[in-house]
Amino acid sequence: MRTIVLTMMLAATAAWGQRLPKSAHPTIEQVVAGVSEERVAAIMKKLESFGSRESNGVVAGPNKGIAAARDWIAAELKSYSPRLEVSFDPHPAKKGARVIKDTEIVNVVAVLKGKTQPDVQVLVGGHYDSMHMVVKEGKLDAEATASQEHAEGVADNASGTACVMELARVMSQYEFDKTIVFIAFAGEEQGLLGAGGYARRASKEKRRIEALINVDTIGTNVTGNGLQAGQRVNVYSGDPMDSGSRALARYMKEVSERYLGEMIVNTVFRPDRFGRGGDHTPFHEEGFAAIRVTTPAEQLENQHNERDTFDRVSVPYTAMVTRGVGAALSSLALAPKPPVVSPLQRGTSRYDAVMRWKSEEPEADLAGYSVLVRSTTAPYWEREVYVGKHDNFTLKNVSIDEVVLGVRAVDADGVESLVTSWTLPQRRSFTAATSPAR
Ligand SMILES: [Zn+2]
Repeated sequence: MRTIVLTMMLAATAAWGQRLPKSAHPTIEQVVAGVSEERVAAIMKKLESFGSRESNGVVAGPNKGIAAARDWIAAELKSYSPRLEVSFDPHPAKKGARVIKDTEIVNVVAVLKGKTQPDVQVLVGGHYDSMHMVVKEGKLDAEATASQEHAEGVADNASGTACVMELARVMSQYEFDKTIVFIAFAGEEQGLLGAGGYARRASKEKRRIEALINVDTIGTNVTGNGLQAGQRVNVYSGDPMDSGSRALARYMKEVSERYLGEMIVNTVFRPDRFGRGGDHTPFHEEGFAAIRVTTPAEQLENQHNERDTFDRVSVPYTAMVTRGVGAALSSLALAPKPPVVSPLQRGTSRYDAVMRWKSEEPEADLAGYSVLVRSTTAPYWEREVYVGKHDNFTLKNVSIDEVVLGVRAVDADGVESLVTSWTLPQRRSFTAATSPAR
């Protein structure tokens, strides 16, 4: 009798997968453990040595300027693994406020092909360009800015570039379901030119980009006036409350904090810092889920000048944030695709909340789904019910008017997808009434 019960339990375990949701996945643990402080430090030091990485390319030489830096980044990425497909991604830029003559803005891209869902991509990016801003009579002098020899840009943003490159090195030792794209963007300081070009082309080509994590300025954890960030990192995401970008921010908080006990992800429900921009923004605007990972302790007096140097950054902090980004990125790349949800219904009783969903091309290792619930004013999911391999769920006596409902797919290893929530499609706002009728 005992044997029969045990056999039945084993059969049930096999059917439900080996691991439950919220358990740690060995590949993700290995990525987190594989990030090396020595490697992160060496990348930042090397990028510092180019003197300036200003995108106009006025400062140039065998080991100076942005073109030399770009060649080094590409060679370095190639050396990590033959499985990384490394290429330059050029975008034409016209003469403008911060571009002194027509030129090309060149991103460096490394692709790690996915095993089971190669056409679905998850992206991590950080801009490798830098700038020593020269202001004359209250205006940026583009010519003078471009010719400054010292724009080391270590915190902004050799730190984020080091995160992207170190994750390329570590993650290319493993296999993932989805394709991972590691990007060093250029032209950020000229108006997000490299990221904008990439995002618009990706949108035009209908690439299936599930997420972009933009890592920008993760070098310092003490502000210029001595305030400590400790183990805290800020993650910015654009509106509305249940945008894909915000779902990605919640995902990073959940996953990074699960794998790094010491890390605190401070989600900021705003597109970016006031009056400032980043490379995630063009992706968010094209409708992709995109977030910015950044320190809460910027050293404002050392930005965009000759003082943004290696001796001012914290290598342990940069490495910790790199591990946190690596955990979220690995989890996304191993997870099933997020389900597609149908409009919420009230059921035959008209007093219930009925949610329906489906997975497009369901994965072979798909185990089931979790339904998530929260009040409309809550920042994070409050309840989660694992419902197994079903395509609908009814919450008895729950009014769809009072809650937000979401669903995510879970694979046999317990790795969870991004949450898809149901929200009403955006209607034209009342303030648009005065604009001409369309
Ligand atoms: Zn930056």
